[in-house]
Amino acid sequence: MEGRIINARSRIIPRSEHAISRSNINPNALKVLYRLKGAGFDAYLVGGGVRDLLLGREPKDFDIATNALPEEVKKLFRNCLLIGRRFRLAHVRFERDVIEVATFRGQGDGDSADEARTETGRILRDNVYGTVEEDAWRRDFTINALYYNIEDFSVVDFVDGMKDLKAGVLRMIGDPEQRFREDPVRMLRAVRFAARLGFRIHRDTETAMRTHGHLLEEIPAARLFDESLKLLQSGNGVATFEQLRRYGLFAYLFPQTEACLAQEEHGFPKTLVVRALANTDQRIAEGKSVTPAFLYAALLWEPVRQALAEREAAGEGELQALQDVARDVVDSQLSRISLPKRFSLPMREIWAMQPRLKKITGLRPVKLLEHPRFRAAYDFLLLRAEAGDDVGELSRWWTEFQTLDENGRLSRVRSEEKTGKKHRARRTKRKPVVQDKPIAND
Ligand code: ATP
Ligand code: MG
Repeated sequence: MEGRIINARSRIIPRSEHAISRSNINPNALKVLYRLKGAGFDAYLVGGGVRDLLLGREPKDFDIATNALPEEVKKLFRNCLLIGRRFRLAHVRFERDVIEVATFRGQGDGDSADEARTETGRILRDNVYGTVEEDAWRRDFTINALYYNIEDFSVVDFVDGMKDLKAGVLRMIGDPEQRFREDPVRMLRAVRFAARLGFRIHRDTETAMRTHGHLLEEIPAARLFDESLKLLQSGNGVATFEQLRRYGLFAYLFPQTEACLAQEEHGFPKTLVVRALANTDQRIAEGKSVTPAFLYAALLWEPVRQALAEREAAGEGELQALQDVARDVVDSQLSRISLPKRFSLPMREIWAMQPRLKKITGLRPVKLLEHPRFRAAYDFLLLRAEAGDDVGELSRWWTEFQTLDENGRLSRVRSEEKTGKKHRARRTKRKPVVQDKPIAND
């Protein structure tokens, strides 16, 4: 620790030499900064807010770091709530946003009651306060440790973050191995920022990532669910997925899917996952809604499909087999990432409707259209067809069927009955169907 502080040369970049303008900072964040300063405290904007402003991007949120203790922050703001166990934080609430105010963190002696770690060194609790410089060293990447000082509008850089920001480099502060041991989720954050910002991961950071993926097994399933959405459902899903696989991290998030992908590197399962992610990215870019139910349905489909094929080959009925297989795949996935019921139930319905979509005689198709999950199940069928599963004809049937009026639909199902035509998906013969039409996934 000593060495780091002695070696660190803090740089102060004056207002005239950086591009952060107060007009781009959230007015509520400014209010909090000014109030802290007015009460005699140091106050800085820090983290993604500073990083994104320097990059000319719109920040997602504005975090503040201060030498005021949480209780002191609370006294300054009527609308303030103290939260958090791992890290104690003050949330200052405004009508539209919440501004997070954190007291500078320091390096404790390792055995105070305010700190706790697991046997492997993972941080469970970390409430030792420190100086602004110590706070900088405890952050994850150099580009995330730049401080915008409300005192003189300068940017303070303790970790050479400015240099990395300019060079497009994502570099873990300190010893990457140790920092990943402290919090393995930092590996996922590395992938997320690299994909989002188009940054290169620094070699030392990258090397540690390739060999420490297994540490993710320690992370509580609920935290991984939140992270999985930040990774795959925030607009850069395809790039993030590719990087997760590149560093061998995907296997620790979706082990069953990874097993299928590893088997069939050039084939269907990857196309389906990538298509689903590309679709999600596109919807987010267009400001449309997305749901984890659809994305997870796609991510876990291949393990479901393979196990289903095995059971069907053994003579089990498709509907029952699908139910059993879905339960097994979901149970196994839940041990890694907790998927709340409000997403896992619709996900299973999307799967369960796939065989039902094949039954296009009698009144069944007419009734199926009324099913609350029809739209998602139909979109999923389109996705399968696009990815090369042999349901192209069937998906076109459904597309056309929906364009018919009530009489048209009735005569269509009657004619299906007459011809006795069965639309069965033949999984053995898959031909990729190139189709660029976006599909909805909600
Ligand atoms: P985003 O734009 O996604 O919000 P961010 O960098 O602001 O990106 P946050 O999760 O909001 O990310 O965290 C704010 C800051 O807190 C980070 O920039 C980083 O300095 C610090 N931080 C967050 N998570 C960690 C972590 N796991 N380990 C160390 N520092 C962290
Ligand atoms: Mg942030």
